[in-house]
Amino acid sequence: MVEETTKDGTTWYVCEKCGMMFDDREEASQHEVNCDAEDPTYLQ
Ligand SMILES: [Zn+2]
Repeated sequence: MVEETTKDGTTWYVCEKCGMMFDDREEASQHEVNCDAEDPTYLQ
């Protein structure tokens, strides 16, 4: 699940798996689908 965070008035979307930040929500969710940094406890 992509996390939202606000920094300096800008909303960022953070990959919950690896912590990578995106300024585009679509990009973030697309990344997360293909993210390799899998944490077994977060598997759906
Ligand atoms: Zn990631």
